Amino acid sequence: MATFLFDEIIFGPVRSRRLGVSLGVNLLPTNSKVCSFNCIYCECGWTKSASSGKLPTRTEVKQKMVERLESMKANGDMLDVITFAGNGEPTLHPDFEGIIDDTIELRDKYFAQARVAVLSNSSMLHKQSVVNALKKVDQNILKLDSAFDSTIQILNQPNKPTAAHQVVEHLEQFNGNFILQTLFVRGGYKGKELDNTTEKEVEQWLSIVKKLMPKEVMIYTIARDTPIEALTKVPVSDLEDIADRVRALGIPVQVSG
Ligand code: SF4
Repeated sequence: MATFLFDEIIFGPVRSRRLGVSLGVNLLPTNSKVCSFNCIYCECGWTKSASSGKLPTRTEVKQKMVERLESMKANGDMLDVITFAGNGEPTLHPDFEGIIDDTIELRDKYFAQARVAVLSNSSMLHKQSVVNALKKVDQNILKLDSAFDSTIQILNQPNKPTAAHQVVEHLEQFNGNFILQTLFVRGGYKGKELDNTTEKEVEQWLSIVKKLMPKEVMIYTIARDTPIEALTKVPVSDLEDIADRVRALGIPVQVSG
């Protein structure tokens, strides 16, 4: 199916369904996806590399960001958030912490009211500089799609063995000061049925949510084309049912159907 890549370091601003008017930052190559996961629902298509490709330098990112923020300021544009997303996993960039420092400095200079957000798959939380950087941003949005290792394996296809309990340990470093993001989906892949909305899945996932007590939870489903066709959106009413169970824990939830 028709997945797509971002062909710039700084893209947008676009209206994000979860974040508002968002200026995107792509720390990955502009012609290929680089990620430590290979999610079967990824809008960027399949992962061909978990490490290679030409990454923009810290200097290039800063320069492009200055140019774009200056022109947006001159045009009187509005901006809610500067979002690190793009063609893969932003925390894989070796200068991620320095780039976050530059971004906060530029945000304060040009759009002091805007937030800085990072969408991450939580795979680099063993690295202290990544944790340090994520603690500095306004919206530290971290993925955990299932409490079951077997589901993570099918859904996210990590490039290294990934155990849910290890991800939870890493997430505990933030003492609840993060946003948990979970994509719910149904379908099948390589002959295996997939549904992370079953009672068994949701119950275990909720027990993790209760343990971590993130400041917010974002739950969503597929919105655009995905690498495989055998996936279906989860109806908003089902997402809302899950959201109600999170709200009952006293945690705000954003649902994007
Ligand atoms: S973690 Fe994000 S970028 Fe990486 S494969 Fe999954 S959806 Fe795509």
